[in-house]
Amino acid sequence: MLELITDFDGANLGGGSVRGNRVLAKVRRDPITRADGSTHDYNYHFIFGLRNLGDAPLSVEVCLECEGPDGLEQTPLVYATPALDQDFAPAVFPARGDGARRTWLQPTLPPHGELYLANTFPRRPEALLAGLDDLAAQGGARRGVYGQSLQGRDLTAYYYPAAQGPRQACVFITSGFHPPEPDTLASEAVMAWLASDQAAEARQKLSFCLAPVANPDGFFLGAQGHNAAGVNFYWEFQPKQEERIPEAAALWALAKRLQPSLYFDFHAYTFQGAAKQAGPYLKPLWFYRGDTVRGLAQDMETRLLELTGGGCMRGASPLARSTLQARLTTRYNTVTFAKYHLHLAQGVPACREHGCQVVSRCVQAMLDADLIRRDQVLARPWGAQPRDPLRKLRAVSEALWEGPVKGFLRPLLGR
Ligand SMILES: [Zn+2]
Repeated sequence: MLELITDFDGANLGGGSVRGNRVLAKVRRDPITRADGSTHDYNYHFIFGLRNLGDAPLSVEVCLECEGPDGLEQTPLVYATPALDQDFAPAVFPARGDGARRTWLQPTLPPHGELYLANTFPRRPEALLAGLDDLAAQGGARRGVYGQSLQGRDLTAYYYPAAQGPRQACVFITSGFHPPEPDTLASEAVMAWLASDQAAEARQKLSFCLAPVANPDGFFLGAQGHNAAGVNFYWEFQPKQEERIPEAAALWALAKRLQPSLYFDFHAYTFQGAAKQAGPYLKPLWFYRGDTVRGLAQDMETRLLELTGGGCMRGASPLARSTLQARLTTRYNTVTFAKYHLHLAQGVPACREHGCQVVSRCVQAMLDADLIRRDQVLARPWGAQPRDPLRKLRAVSEALWEGPVKGFLRPLLGR
């Protein structure tokens, strides 16, 4: 009478069984990531379907990692759709949870009907990729394939050249590292903005490049946060491990070609509720070299904190050396806002609007300061060090002095 559906692209469940009108299931467990002295557990999401084979409506009880609703005090964020070719919408049936993996749901299925359930807003991979191509075409972007995923899928980027030429600074945007997080909403919103008249000055003076689905295999496999080799390469961004993580190798090669002045990487909170607030991870300004870039980063931070009402993440996470943002700032003095977290609890339209605001506000900071050329914004890249060991040592020392050391001393010296 009742069937579990997990045989579609993007289905994400750790196994389950049906007993009468009751479904007992587990959340999928991918490997736990250890990087930068912390552990990162992404095993919280589910996306699956139910099919009623009977002639009558069927009230179903779904128990994920629990026996029933007892002791589950919270109302989880649940999205549902009767068909996979329709967008998921907030569910209206009873649901309880513990703010983590334990979730109890009580949907009713129509006769011979299906219902797909998720504790996120799932982005169906094929529709997502097709929609991005449409948005790129509307904005006159160049679509490029910058590599192949481990399972041979195209890694796609959209490039919007600056009308004023190749010397203009580049804004680089990524999303889609962690498939259950609907952070691709931000990339879509930015691409819609780039196609609009409101972005005319930005398109004139700056170039933009978006790689909205950094981990396409993860989307098709229904992974919690990993690529096909089980690597969460947001945290383990190791471009040299091309055989395990070709996605990281290709993304780093793209980033090196772009030498971006500004980098956003979008993520999204989903099940976390009021425990988390939308906003950027902020790293200390002394990470940046030179007063110009430090001042620009500070102005952008101020504009972003206005948007989030002060919501942001500081502390150890933003300093993680293993991530792409750290590499970009070390090498190209790129101002980075990664991970920038949307929050699904605000709703899908608000997530889109928030993502667009994040980028347009920071871009406005560059336009207002007239810092729009690559050479104005980038300090001397560490990648361009001289070969001679003594001169190299001097260059690195200078960079250290200009960056962390002076930045650390400045508040102590009161200047
Ligand atoms: Zn994430």
